[in-house]
Amino acid sequence: MDIHEYQAKEILASFGVAIPPGALAYSPEQAAYRARELGGDRWIVKAQVHAGGRGKAGGVKLCDSDHEIMEATEAMFGQKLVTHQTGAEGKGIYRVYVEGAVPIAREIYLGFVLDRGSQRVMIVASSEGGMDIEDISAQKPETIVRSAVEPAVGLREFQAREIAFALGIPAPLVQQMVRTLMGCYRAFRDLDATMVEINPLVVTGDSRIMALDAKMTFDDNALFRHPQVSELRDKSQEDPRESRAADRGLSYVGLDGNIGCIVNGAGLAMATMDTIKLAGGEPANFLDIGGGATPERVAKAFRLVMSDKNVRAVLVNIFAGINRCDWVAEGVVQALTAHPVEVPVVVRLAGTNVEEGRRILERSGLPVIAAGSLMDAAQKAVSALADKTPILEKAEAI
Ligand code: GDP
Ligand code: MN
Repeated sequence: MDIHEYQAKEILASFGVAIPPGALAYSPEQAAYRARELGGDRWIVKAQVHAGGRGKAGGVKLCDSDHEIMEATEAMFGQKLVTHQTGAEGKGIYRVYVEGAVPIAREIYLGFVLDRGSQRVMIVASSEGGMDIEDISAQKPETIVRSAVEPAVGLREFQAREIAFALGIPAPLVQQMVRTLMGCYRAFRDLDATMVEINPLVVTGDSRIMALDAKMTFDDNALFRHPQVSELRDKSQEDPRESRAADRGLSYVGLDGNIGCIVNGAGLAMATMDTIKLAGGEPANFLDIGGGATPERVAKAFRLVMSDKNVRAVLVNIFAGINRCDWVAEGVVQALTAHPVEVPVVVRLAGTNVEEGRRILERSGLPVIAAGSLMDAAQKAVSALADKTPILEKAEAI
């Protein structure tokens, strides 16, 4: 789960990381009012969306007056911000964060990620802050400092000092840098984050180290033990297909292809996507309906897949262990009877009650394409696409 910049800053500040004074606003009037409350005569207005790259996309504005703040925020509210991280759709701006502007002497990149290879929290830093880490590693790889945290002891101060020295932090500021690194690490570990990124972390004109931007991502599977984090969820920033699925207990990831997949089990879903690729097709989604799927659940899965207008064929692949093929077949029949779909539907069933499942599909008289093996199913889905079967223009939303 991602959170907003202002939320990440609040969390990091509670772990001792210095941030500029700032305040949240839900309207242009409120933004101007909040700026007056903060005091000073220069402010940065920042669109709060779950994506980076806002600066280049017009989501970060330096303002010198109330009037400028009103103007900048009026242009932001209700708009979709498109950055290189949002995709073409963009993300809606419903909140802005107003911060007192800070004079910047130096920009540093600082990131904490979970490195699966070394099974450690990896600290990645660079003296070239402000640029994306992808660009730094392409253009200035020699500036990148990496340091893995030994899990048994956590981040130690000497290690944090080493990072500060490697970044060329002047001696009088090293203690502030150590405090920043220790704070980020503790926030990462205590709250089960998978990513903490501060870009830029700056040295100000008056020699303070401050986080001017902050991003945090959390492990969804650990959210149950951090209610104060899970309440920060902002559904307006999520793919609506994915949050709708999550609310219905389905595990769904939208992809760019055109073959919709309905599968039980994450492993089988992966194998199904691989096989579709092998047969020359492109999956439109990953959808795991889980074990013990009732006909209602299968019908829901169908509606979810069909709400993606790119879907030109559906492949149902069920290996029934805990599941029952007859229930899945009933779900398919229910879904197709209630909301007829104009794209070909290929069904491959195996396992518990497979005979009964096949009979239900045959008896229904629905134009379902039956498949034997997984490869057979994938090939049938791909060639059904090539038949140019009429395309469903506007699919039914759930
Ligand atoms: P991002 O583009 O989404 O990563 O948004 P950032 O929060 O990183 O802001 C983009 C850029 O705006 C930063 O890299 C800074 O150069 C600049 N910026 C942000 N806050 C301030 C500030 O308080 N003072 C000044 N001078 N520049 C700022
Ligand atoms: Mn940034």
